[in-house]
Formats: sequence, C-alpha cells, structure tokens
Amino acid sequence: MKSVNLVVLGTLAFDSIQTPFGKVENVLGGSATYFSLAARNFSEVGIVGVVGKDFPHEHLEFLKNKKIDLRGVEKTEGKTFRWEGYYEYDMDQAHTLKTELNVLETFEPKIPDEYVGCEYLFLANTDPEIQLEVLKRIKPRHSFCDTMNFWIEHKNAELTELLKKVDGVFINEGEARQYCKTPNLIQAGRKLLKLGPKKIIIKKGESGALFFSDKEFFVAPAYPLEIVKDPTGAGDSFAGGTVGHLAKHQEFTDAAIKKSMVCGSVVASYVVENFGVESYKKLKHEHIQERYDTFKRIVAFDHEF
Ligand code: AMP
Repeated sequence: MKSVNLVVLGTLAFDSIQTPFGKVENVLGGSATYFSLAARNFSEVGIVGVVGKDFPHEHLEFLKNKKIDLRGVEKTEGKTFRWEGYYEYDMDQAHTLKTELNVLETFEPKIPDEYVGCEYLFLANTDPEIQLEVLKRIKPRHSFCDTMNFWIEHKNAELTELLKKVDGVFINEGEARQYCKTPNLIQAGRKLLKLGPKKIIIKKGESGALFFSDKEFFVAPAYPLEIVKDPTGAGDSFAGGTVGHLAKHQEFTDAAIKKSMVCGSVVASYVVENFGVESYKKLKHEHIQERYDTFKRIVAFDHEF
C-alpha cells in the first residue's frame, strides 16, 4: 500500500457556530478536517482520528472525494466529538460554549503502517497525551503541533512535554499569551523557542502570523477580505496550507516556511468567507494561485530607504 507524505492527528467534529452573520448547527468541523482540506491542495494527506457511529457516511465520502486518506480514521461506538462556540463582532476570538469529548475520551489511535516514518506529522489541536503517543508511534521526519486554551488549562504538564519534543509549533496569540504567561508575543515566541522547538508560528487571526526561529523573524499578513462570515477553521486551514506546501516542496528551511505561510494565509482566506467547510467545496488551484499573486503585489515595497 502507498505510504503517505503528510499525516494529521486531530478531531473530526460536529460544530455548532454562531457569528454576527449567521448560525449553523452540527456541521462538519474539527481540527483534522480543516487541516486536511487545506493541505490536500498541495500534498497527499492522511488523517488519524476517531468518529462515532452518528458520523454520516456523506462526510467521510466528502473527505475521500477530496483525495484525503482516511485509513487512520476509526468509527467507533459512541458519539462524535462536538464543539459549540460563538464569535462577537470583531470575530477575533472563538468563545467556547460547550466541548463534548465523547469518543475522544477513550480514543486509542490506530495508525496504519503506511503512516509510520512519514515526512511531516501535524499534531492538530487535540488531547496532548494522544498527541504525544502518536508522535512516538509515527516517528516522522518533521513534526508540528497546535493546541488551545482547553488543553492549556486541563493538561498543562502533558502539553509542556509535547512542546519539548516537536520541531515546530503553531499557536494562536491568546493561547501563546496564556501558556507563556506574558502579554507580549515576541517574548512568548522566544519562550517557546527555549523549550526546544526550532520553528514557532504565532497566529494572529486577521492580523496575520509571526514566525520565530533561531535566525529569523517574519511577519505574514492575513489576506485582506471584505467579507468574513465565520472564522472557524481559519487556524487549522492556515496550518494545513503552510505544512501542506512545505511537504510538497520537501524543504524544511526558514525561507521555505515563510513562503509556505503565505500559502497558508491564502487558503485560510477562502474558508472564512463561508460557514464551516462550505468554501472547500468549490476551492480550486487557480483560486489559490490568484490570491497568492495578489499577495505578492500587496506586500511588495521599494527596499531603498
Ligand atoms: P480553528 O482553526 O482554531 O478555528 O479550529 C476550529 C475547530 O477546532 C473546530 O472545527 C472545532 O471542532 C475544533 N475544536 C474546538 N475545540 C477543540 C478541542 N478542545 N480539541 C480539539 N479540537 C477542537
């Protein structure tokens, strides 16, 4: 059987979301869902995750039709992970109303042999104990993780252990401040580097993202949009676009990461224009190319001082 270049561990979920521009209930979501739908635009990608018996066949078919490898997705007795949240007018931060772990509580990841030793592993937002176990079993060439306030509060020690073992971290600004106990993001980036990971990316929503390594500091803007209906999945889509593009070009340099972050910003810009995964139903390569080209134009300036 064919091996997979990029693997993501994360949630497949039912999301209920309210923003000032509308409301949806029990729609397809989850960190692994958004990540893989973004990454598949650049690289083959496989998911390690779990769903309950209530997870509709049509959602799995949708992901399969997008050529996402689902050999690591287990369907088990019980209910699928559920998340309910809302955004206020500035849409900057998701406010969680309810998190139901359900099948995630007893999840024992099944890892296909073809995923072991993959080039890139993305440990998307999920229980850090599971992230640690999957990292140990897959033994990828390069690994990244993400996390969120829920795990910073409930499993802080396990999260610290994980951060010491991965090559790179994606974390959003609020969570970087919370975990590093500092209001300043530059200090937070430096603190995270000190734990061990060589590449730190702090996501700042519509203000873009910051990249830190031992040699580089880089600011990637977010793509400026007139319409933002639902920011859910923007962070995972940004990570999916970034790591998917890195995996395609097989380069783990700072220069490659900077360019890949722009691809991540472009993909995320499409997902927030509609609720849930709706935008991914129509997203094509030429759309990504178009906004990538616009990006080059809007961030270019004369370097002569
Ligand atoms: P983001 O890209 O950060 O907007 O992440 C959105 C996705 O994260 C949603 O589709 C949720 O299903 C998922 N999610 C929310 N809370 C958690 C959690 N505690 N663990 C894992 N995934 C979560």
